[in-house]
Parts: sequence; structure tokens; C-alpha cells
Amino acid sequence: MFDALAERLEDTWKKLRGQGKISQSNIQDALQEVRRALLEADVNFQVVKSFVAEVEKNALGAEVISGVNPQQQFIKIVYDELVKVMGESNVPLAKAEKAPTVILMAGLQGTGKTTATAKLALYLQKQKRSCLMVATDVYRPAAIDQLITLGEQIKIPVFELGSDANPVEIARQGVVSAQEQGIDTVIIDTAGRLQIDQEMMGELSQIKSTVNPDEVLLVVDAMTGQEAANLTRTFHEEIGITGAILTKMDGDSRGGAALSVRTISGKPIKFIGVGEKVEALEPFYPDRMASRILNMGDIVSLVEKAQEELDIGDVEKMQRKMMEAKFDFNDFLKQMRLLKNMGSFAGVMKLIPGMNKIGAGALEKGESQLKITESIINSMTKQERENPELLAKSPSRRRRIAQGSGHQEKEVSRLISDFTRMRSMMQQMTTGGGFPGMPGMGG
Ligand code: GDP
Repeated sequence: MFDALAERLEDTWKKLRGQGKISQSNIQDALQEVRRALLEADVNFQVVKSFVAEVEKNALGAEVISGVNPQQQFIKIVYDELVKVMGESNVPLAKAEKAPTVILMAGLQGTGKTTATAKLALYLQKQKRSCLMVATDVYRPAAIDQLITLGEQIKIPVFELGSDANPVEIARQGVVSAQEQGIDTVIIDTAGRLQIDQEMMGELSQIKSTVNPDEVLLVVDAMTGQEAANLTRTFHEEIGITGAILTKMDGDSRGGAALSVRTISGKPIKFIGVGEKVEALEPFYPDRMASRILNMGDIVSLVEKAQEELDIGDVEKMQRKMMEAKFDFNDFLKQMRLLKNMGSFAGVMKLIPGMNKIGAGALEKGESQLKITESIINSMTKQERENPELLAKSPSRRRRIAQGSGHQEKEVSRLISDFTRMRSMMQQMTTGGGFPGMPGMGG
């Protein structure tokens, strides 16, 4: 996501490189690139205008920091502004003082509203909050069935009264039912239309005034770009939203919707949908999104993703080993298996700074390289895995491993030198902290 924008800005940085100071004249090119990149990423033009004006003001007013080049300083200013526009920090879901918390889902048809309803229910269930999903889309009978099927899949009950009942009445009774059962949160899926239409808005308003929800979440398809801005404006003016869920963030390279939604509604994006599966929901973090936009990768999500897979003890042990430069081939193997468990290699690599420009071909190659690496490590003795230095010193050991694994000796040598380089880089990262040369932007 945001690939195009990241590339654009990277070209801009190149132009700024080697200039001594941010000034009115040299910043214009860079601002122009930021403007163009944002428009191409489908950020609403009004949002772009105010964004660029803010960046210019901040950049020109910025004190020149000694030891930092203007390019780095400019990146930091754009980054800060991006984070600001997208809302600074993650805003959690509201929780009613007295159960049940009521969440109303709104949005056009096909945006992923029903899927998001189930994703959210599953997300809350994992936090030990019981849920009831309510199916009010009586116009598309398949929608009720879809929610029932999802409910069965995630073992969360669905309240429905068939397709002849009145949607407002279904919503009301759904909330009453949750109250009676002592359920923590009710999520009401509503009918969407292909376009904004007054009947739909009227019905949503009625449901809203009847159930008095704690959250009205607008489900926005990130692929719709410019349209997302108009949609947000209309829904917010007519219904009043409290937040948004941006769906289909997995398949898209134009992420402009994220900036537009927040600026136009003033309401936070609370979650992003990152796939068709019910588990594919993540809290939205403005700072991470800004890092992605600036092609700094998303180290924080990567680390968290890794932590979910490993138990904390393992992570701490690995970190300690990295710091002490005791990271060995066993740890390396563990890390590689972890990468594999974490899903596609391509998906993980995209989160690493500078890696999101690698083409699909290179990624496939990376995946097969992983297999080779694994077979080489499997041919090492226990002692060799624990003491990588042994291998650096001994050609005969390398030859034996090459033969054992069925690969060439030069592949074994390359792996050992890559490993050694990686280990010293890790050590620098864990002891130095943050991104080198990027003040105040520590990971
Ligand atoms: P609704 O009409 O708004 O209720 O939309 P649905 O929930 O039926 O979703 C429409 C389509 O989008 C379905 O094929 C979903 O699988 C797909 N979808 C929903 N969310 C996501 C997402 O985050 N990523 C991707 N790739 N597809 C999604």
C-alpha cells in the first residue's frame, strides 16, 4: 500500500540531497512532488492543499539543525504532518458504561461492511468481550445468510428476523436481546447501496436514533480513493459518524483515503481491513502508516507480528543474544521459520524499510532462497550452528556442508558472510536504537 507515494517522495529527497538549507526556492520542487504524489495517491485535493501548506509553513520555519541535512529534516516534517493529519495515535473503540456497547456499521454495498462486522466481533471476542451481530440488511437476503455463515465460522451469535421484518425493529430487538443475555457488545450490520441514496440514509438515521449507538463506524473501501472523501462528508453530515474502518488495505497502492477520511470528518480511523479472512483486521496506527508512506517500512508492526508468533521469553532471549552478538545459526533458523509462519515472505518483506520496492520476481527468488538457506543450515553440526565463527575459518567444513546440502560451496560461503554482516547490523540496531541518521524518529 502507498507504494506510489513512497517512491515519489523518495525521488523528491534525491533532489534535495546535497543542498545546505531548506529555503523558499529549493523547497518548491519538493512540495510540488509531495502535492503530486498525494493527488496521485487519490488524496482529496482540498486535503492535499491544506497538507502541503502546513508542510511548507513548518519547513520554512524550522530551525536548521546542525548535523542533519535538509533532506532528513524535510522527511521528518512531512512525516510529522502525516501523523498529525491521520490523528496522532490509535483511538480505541468506545465502551458503554452499562453493557451492551452498541456499534452501528454504515457504508456502501461492497465496501466490506458485513465482513468487517464479523472481523470486529472476532477481534472483540479475542479480548474476552462477548458479541452479538445483528443482521438488518433485509433488501439483499444473501446478506443475512452471509452474516449467519460468518457467525457460525467464528462462533458468534447472529440476531435476525428474516427478510420481511423492518430493519429499525430488528436493530431495536437485537439490542434488547443482547441486554437480556448480558452480552457485552452488539454490532449492527446495515444495508448498503451502490451509491448514496436518501432512503438508505433515512433508514440509518432511524436506526441510529432508535438504538443510540456508542459508535457509528463508516466502512470505507480504501480502493475508492477520491470517492472516499465525498462519501465520508455525506455520511458524516447526514448520520454523524464516530470513526471509520478502512477496508482492502491489502490490495491497494493508492492509500489516499486514510488522509482524507480523518481530515474531512475529524473522526479517527479505528481499524484497517487487510484481507478477506475474518482475522484480517488490525488497529490503525497513524505513525506506522506515515512510516509506510515515507518508505521507512513498518518495523513496529513487523516486531509485533513476530511477537504474536513467538512467546515473549523467546523474543527477550533473542534480543539479548542480538545485543551480545551471540545470535547463532539456530536463532537464524528459528527466525526464518517464524517468517514462514507469519505468512507470505512477500508480505513480511514489504514491512521492512527499503524492501517495499522489491519486485514480485525478486520476492519469489527470496522465498526459494529461504529454502536453500534452510537446507544449508540443516547440514551444519550442532557445534557449527552455535559457533558460526568455526565456519568462517574452515574451508573444509564449508565444503562438507555444501556436499551435504546439495548446494555449491560458494552458496555456503555467501550465507556465512551474509549472516555475519546481518549479525553486526543487528547489534548496531539494538544498541544504537532507531533509524541511523534520523533524529527523533527512533523505531
Ligand atoms: P458489504 O456489501 O459492504 O457487506 O461487503 P462484504 O462484506 O460482502 O465484502 C465485499 C467483498 O470485499 C467480499 O468479497 C469480501 O471478501 C471483500 N473484502 C472485505 N474486506 C476486505 C479486505 O480488507 N481486503 C480484501 N482484499 N477484501 C475484502
